[in-house]
Amino acid sequence: MQTPPSGLLEAPLPADYPQPEALVFGQILGPYLVHAHHDGEHWHTPQLSPRAEAPLPMASGGLQYGFSVFEGLKAYRDPQQQIQLFRPRDHARRLANSAQRLAMPVPDEELFLQLCQRAVQVHARYVPPHGRGALYLRPTLFAEEEGLGFRVARRHGLSVAVTPCCDPPQKTIRLWAETELVRAAPGGMGEAKTGGNYAAGILGLQRARARGYDDVVWLDARQHRQLGEAGTMNIFVQIGHELITPPLDGTILPGITRDSLIRLLRAEGMSVLEHDLSLDELVAAQMAGQLGTAFGVGTAARLVQISEIAEAGRSIGFSDTGLAARAYTALKQVQEGSSHALREWRV
Ligand code: PMP
Repeated sequence: MQTPPSGLLEAPLPADYPQPEALVFGQILGPYLVHAHHDGEHWHTPQLSPRAEAPLPMASGGLQYGFSVFEGLKAYRDPQQQIQLFRPRDHARRLANSAQRLAMPVPDEELFLQLCQRAVQVHARYVPPHGRGALYLRPTLFAEEEGLGFRVARRHGLSVAVTPCCDPPQKTIRLWAETELVRAAPGGMGEAKTGGNYAAGILGLQRARARGYDDVVWLDARQHRQLGEAGTMNIFVQIGHELITPPLDGTILPGITRDSLIRLLRAEGMSVLEHDLSLDELVAAQMAGQLGTAFGVGTAARLVQISEIAEAGRSIGFSDTGLAARAYTALKQVQEGSSHALREWRV
């Protein structure tokens, strides 16, 4: 790994750097990028460079055809203030799967880890104290050479940008069930973390907001009845004594938080099922007095409780059984290393 020309080891904080609680997600970006190039055959030695100088070739496949896949993971300080990445190898494997889906070169796990670790090291001062937030890392793999033909690019880049963020607040949202627009279809790219899926979703978010809701519930592409995802989070619904989340059928992003929560709750003896769940089943459960809590989970927001899912002429109300708060705390403790459970998840 090369050091930047100044020999810089740790980027200083700007004079007006806020308290961790005032860090708005994505607003302050770390001043450096750690990146590696792939020349069609090999990955080259990673380099560090000022983010502001990163070139964006206008005619690149990344920009023109959406040949870009990415990850989102966090580095937290544990109670001893040591910095640890949460499940970076699982994020590396998901990036590899996304890259394969878009016929892009697959970075190996060690390279991914090396880039992430260097990005954290150089931005160590940006990592909030234990319990008060995290450094979010955004590794992005993209086709970078110029040329307008539609084909697999020869040159790719893998860059890690970072943004410090506060500990996400525990909050409750209302969702609109989108019955016209579709985020992902069978055989499509729903399980890949690629920009196209987000572009496909932004209009649905706008439409939900225009109706006065916070976000959208994506439904299956054929019947528009089965639950998919809650905006950019995986969804969980409690019915009776069971917690249900839609299965990873190829249209859903296999969330690392989703997987963490399933394991944590199952270890506590809770029945967590991965199976289809329709809006009509939610209505039936509500009428039978069986509908409990619902929430969405993801790296950025950790866990957000859902109070309502609405569609034209119908609204489904969830109750607060305390499960969301319990699950939020279980996730926070394991992510921040204040619980010794699952030590192997922290690198
Ligand atoms: N679904 C979508 C569409 C997402 O963008 C995210 C956030 N990456 C998630 C689910 C949650 O995934 P994770 O827990 O790995 O952050």
